[in-house]
This record gives sequence, C-alpha cells and structure tokens, in this order.
Amino acid sequence: MAKTRGYLREYTRNLDAMIEAGAQVRVWCEFCKEAADIDLVALRARVGGEFSLLNRRCRCRLTPDCPGWNRFSYLSGVMRHLADDETLARWEAQGWASVRWR
Ligand SMILES: [Zn+2]
Repeated sequence: MAKTRGYLREYTRNLDAMIEAGAQVRVWCEFCKEAADIDLVALRARVGGEFSLLNRRCRCRLTPDCPGWNRFSYLSGVMRHLADDETLARWEAQGWASVRWR
C-alpha cells in the first residue's frame, strides 16, 4: 500500500475498531490552532460504536466564536489525517492550506 499523506489504517473505520486498536485521536482547529485529545470511549457512549470520525469535520468547538473548522487526526507512527486523499483535496480546495501538528 502506498504511503500517501492520507494513508489510513483499517481501524479508522469506526469508534469500536479504533478503541479496540488503542487509537489516539486528536481534534484540532485549522483556524485558531487549538487542539485536544479525544476520549473515544466517552464519545462512543454518546454516539455509538459504529460512528466514524473519518472524513468528518465540524465547526470549531475548541474556542468560543471561532469561525474555523475542527478536524481529526490519529497517531500511527506520526499524526495522520482522519480523512482520505479525496476529502483532503476537497477541503484544501475550499481554502485550507497548511497544517502544523502540535
Ligand atoms: Zn477554532
């Protein structure tokens, strides 16, 4: 399998698989640059084990009134986007430019 920047581990398909794999997931904002670890077990309690963070983003919940988008990444050697190449390209085309992990 080619290691593209959107390279995705199989367990990213849903919360059950990510928890079983011991995945570490972070949410971060492309605008205010805030970041936080995600408690996957607590999230699953709210949304269920079939829920997937893949190719998902939401309005910033890290900073009040921030106009940015929150995105998700997971640790697999290095931090990787929880999104496939097609989705990343679409988001980039909408104005998202650079990423700095923190
Ligand atoms: Zn923000």
